[in-house]
Amino acid sequence: AKALGRCNYQYYSPEMNARTLDRLTLENALRHAIERHELVMLYQPQYDLRTGAMAGVEALLRWRPHGRDMIGPDVFIPIAEETGLIVPIGEWVLRTACAQQVAWRQAGLPALRMAVNLSARQFRMSGLTAMVAQALHDTGCEAGDVELEITESVLMERADTAEETLQHLSGMGVRLAIDDFGTGYSSLAYLKRFPIDVLKIDRSFICGIPGDANDAAIATAVAALAHSMQLSVVAEGVETDEQRNFLMSLRCEYAQGYLYSKPVPAGAIAALLGTMQ
Ligand code: C2E
Ligand code: CA
Ligand code: CA
Ligand code: CA
Repeated sequence: AKALGRCNYQYYSPEMNARTLDRLTLENALRHAIERHELVMLYQPQYDLRTGAMAGVEALLRWRPHGRDMIGPDVFIPIAEETGLIVPIGEWVLRTACAQQVAWRQAGLPALRMAVNLSARQFRMSGLTAMVAQALHDTGCEAGDVELEITESVLMERADTAEETLQHLSGMGVRLAIDDFGTGYSSLAYLKRFPIDVLKIDRSFICGIPGDANDAAIATAVAALAHSMQLSVVAEGVETDEQRNFLMSLRCEYAQGYLYSKPVPAGAIAALLGTMQ
């Protein structure tokens, strides 16, 4: 096989086969992940840079299949999207996150905004608004305590349907954030057209600030754009004091990243609330 490997004509590769098999195994296992209680939510705090207080959390999904290592969302969310499993999984995520938000409130914790990721496929499904309304109703979570994160690509394809869906969600009182802002095709016109509340500056731009001139320019421009449109700014992937200080100088409202905390189980949030940044 080694000798053949250089020739470039073999299209059977044992490695490829293993990956394909793995993909099928994963796909079948993912079908049962909810009923087998293998999905786990972690929560990553978002801090208000003006007060230093924890203002909310982002719900981040993990999958721990029985007898296997934890699998990250970058691996299984694409499979869930392609198979349509993202619909029941996404509903489980929203319900779990909303129930958690209420549980913290009932435990006497300060109100925390709950940010939940919506994938493109989920966003396009026809019953999305009804599903969100039902989750809020069943868990008793206030719409204003929920922020839905969507990516720019969602707005660009089928803009008319997207606008209608966003108007419905916004009308319910749910906050809307554009995730990974700056990494996709953005038309600034869309920002004006859609009822968006928050821009999240992507980690790839936060990474180089303040030293990298391009990243600094992008972060500065995004913050200025957001503020001129009365949107607030969340910076993700904040890892250093220098990054935080630069974001504060941009009057960026919220920061999230390893500088503050990695994503943690729900039970660890109360302890983090006790520690001031
Ligand atoms: P995202 O929405 O951009 O989430 C931020 C990712 O950056 C998370 O990775 C988080 O753990 C990581 N992160 C946070 N702070 C730092 C930092 O300071 N440094 C570094 N290097 N990384 C940091 P994670 O949890 O692996 O999630 C990856 C992606 O999977 C998310 O990217 C999101 O697109 C998707 N995802 C996660 N949970 C869900 C979910 O419930 N539903 C859907 N549809 N997608 C999800
Ligand atoms: Ca996100
Ligand atoms: Ca993001
Ligand atoms: Ca990102």
